[in-house]
Amino acid sequence: MRQYELVERVSSYNKDVNEALLNKAYVYAMQKHGTQLRASGDPYFSHPLEVAAILTEMKLDEETIAVALLHDTIEDTDATRKEIDDKFGERIGALVEGLTKIKRLELVSKKAEQGENLRRLLLAVSDDIRVLLVKLADRLHNMRTLNHVKIEKRARIAQETMEIYAPLAGRMGMQSMRDELEELAFSHINPETHETITKHLEELAEKNKNLISQITSELSQKLEQSKIPADVSSRRKRPFSVSRKMEKKELAFEQLSDIYGFRIIVESVEDCYRALGLVHTTWSFVPGRIKDYISTPKQNGYKSIHTTVIGPKRQRVELQIRTRKMHEIAEYGVAAHALYKDLGDGAVGISNEIDAYATLRKTIEQLAHSTSPEEFLEHTKLELFLDQVFCFTPKGRIIALPHGATPIDFAYAVHTDVGNSCVGCKINGQLMPVITELQNGDEVEIIRSKSQTPPSAWESVVVTGKARAAIRRSTREAVRLQYSSLGARILERGFEREGKVFEREDIKEILPKLARQSIEDVLTDVGRGELPSLDVIQALYPNYLEERAATRKPPKEEGWFGLKTGAGLLFKIPGLRRRGQKVKSGAGGLMGSIPIRGIKGDLPVRFSPSGGAVPGDRIVGILEPGKGITIYPAKSAELRKFKGQTDRWIDVQWDIVPENAERFPATIKLSAVNEPGALATIADTIASNESNIQNMVMSAKSNDFTQMVIDLEVWDLSHLERIIKQLAKKSAVSKIIRIIE
Ligand code: MN
Repeated sequence: MRQYELVERVSSYNKDVNEALLNKAYVYAMQKHGTQLRASGDPYFSHPLEVAAILTEMKLDEETIAVALLHDTIEDTDATRKEIDDKFGERIGALVEGLTKIKRLELVSKKAEQGENLRRLLLAVSDDIRVLLVKLADRLHNMRTLNHVKIEKRARIAQETMEIYAPLAGRMGMQSMRDELEELAFSHINPETHETITKHLEELAEKNKNLISQITSELSQKLEQSKIPADVSSRRKRPFSVSRKMEKKELAFEQLSDIYGFRIIVESVEDCYRALGLVHTTWSFVPGRIKDYISTPKQNGYKSIHTTVIGPKRQRVELQIRTRKMHEIAEYGVAAHALYKDLGDGAVGISNEIDAYATLRKTIEQLAHSTSPEEFLEHTKLELFLDQVFCFTPKGRIIALPHGATPIDFAYAVHTDVGNSCVGCKINGQLMPVITELQNGDEVEIIRSKSQTPPSAWESVVVTGKARAAIRRSTREAVRLQYSSLGARILERGFEREGKVFEREDIKEILPKLARQSIEDVLTDVGRGELPSLDVIQALYPNYLEERAATRKPPKEEGWFGLKTGAGLLFKIPGLRRRGQKVKSGAGGLMGSIPIRGIKGDLPVRFSPSGGAVPGDRIVGILEPGKGITIYPAKSAELRKFKGQTDRWIDVQWDIVPENAERFPATIKLSAVNEPGALATIADTIASNESNIQNMVMSAKSNDFTQMVIDLEVWDLSHLERIIKQLAKKSAVSKIIRIIE
């Protein structure tokens, strides 16, 4: 076949054909295969070209045809996946790579017993059903030309075809593909029997020539008289199906020879039933032989009516009655759904992609569950695939995942949005934890919630890179959001303190002054402590300092100036509460509702008496018999006491909403320079960051420095970090750390 002939064939059923793509694939594959030859001595390129031609008979799209042309390039020439991606796009590249994988495996599994390998791989690459369509066409052409292959190789290839590819074609509803594969395989597996039966059938056909044409014309006449437009044809018996029947029913050839097969193809479903009625009133029918696959289609989407009647010479006549569309579906199976995508008239067994996938899914289940002599191999030579699991979406889409994958990986494999909004899952219809390890064949339904963001702890649970990267991204974004909402809160209070009203939109006009790109940047930087709130106020109200001096008394905090600390002297400073904010007692006591997730039941929950955990810290729950659950920061040294008692450790997470107003105790330790105003600076910094000092213990370490341990109350970790950062910048502070006991 020539280049223009191929293009013409495709354009005969697809007017908008992308000719450039076909031409490019044709030229590329021809050049790549160059002077390579097939076993037959033909140029190698004749093979991909024939494979493409087979697929045009199924009227497949030009991408599939292009993939057919390219299908052996990666494996057999110097072409690479990258080159194909670059030239033809990633979708085509992925399909060609899928075919390459199958081919490599075929080469490895020299023995037919290793068919299981192949089944698994087919499963792995069948994400896009077109891989299988090209693979089947490839196999069909190889079977047609098997005579040229060395005789010792033929049996294995034929066996593999019989055991894997023919059933696969059948399960995909591609009857004519299946028939031809079976016949070709049979002729190589059992040449003598094949030849004997073929000869018998030919003799029989010759002998019954008149009878067959008599039945055909009688049927045609009756249908015409009843005004049912129809095509009547006799069905040739296939040697393989005769042989199978003989084996199954233990019958001699002669006993099977009085069965004749005919097919009536009509225009509509209604005509199918009218034709059936006509046949049944003309000849007597064999009870129990009527099968209505129109009202109850086969699993692979096959639709037809089957019946058997007693013909004019008392011979048995098997009839199939179906519409033309049903016929094409029966012949081409899933491939035909490309043709009949939007038919909703019920005449087509497979009318959309989901059905096609559902069919494939059943195929795979059946292949996976079929007992075969090579099953034991699964535990020996199959490590290659033991590291993969294949799961399904509720709609039957296959998701291939590495071994150990969780529903979280599954969700991200389906779509990043699905992963990011995943809050739970059902495995095979049952609610299960999202950290469950998935098994082959599991059907996974992801339960989603819009308000969810993936907990950062998932990062260590997932096994796929895609999931890990997405969780990391999402966590970063969540942290950024936390800082920006903290920044907004700080600005609100800061403005309020200056008697101004904070409006987000006002920031827009001062962005250049602040050297920031967006309002969001300003809020985030304020939240992070990289931009003092006073800078923002000053940018918006350049004269605010004068205004303040004119309208306000000196702030109360100035009373701290000059406070001196003596060596070893302890001060207890009452909390610097502002504007009557309610402060929760925090550490130690039992709490009514504690914002922690991961705890089931009604066990009382409390923070560890030594405290120190604020939202954002990694935390751990410890089950204390008789007391309930105590929450510790993961860094707490006290946790050492529970080492080795793993059954007492409970995974917990904070359950904090950004608007949370509750405060949590935290402790910082710092060294302050002994100078007038140092304490005031520290207290002022803490206060201007909207934190409260609950307690402060000071001890003089030398003449120059005073050590302070300050108990603060903060909203969360980012709030605490902001305060530490700002304190660290003060010249009065020489060293500052957070203390977790
Ligand atoms: Mn090939």
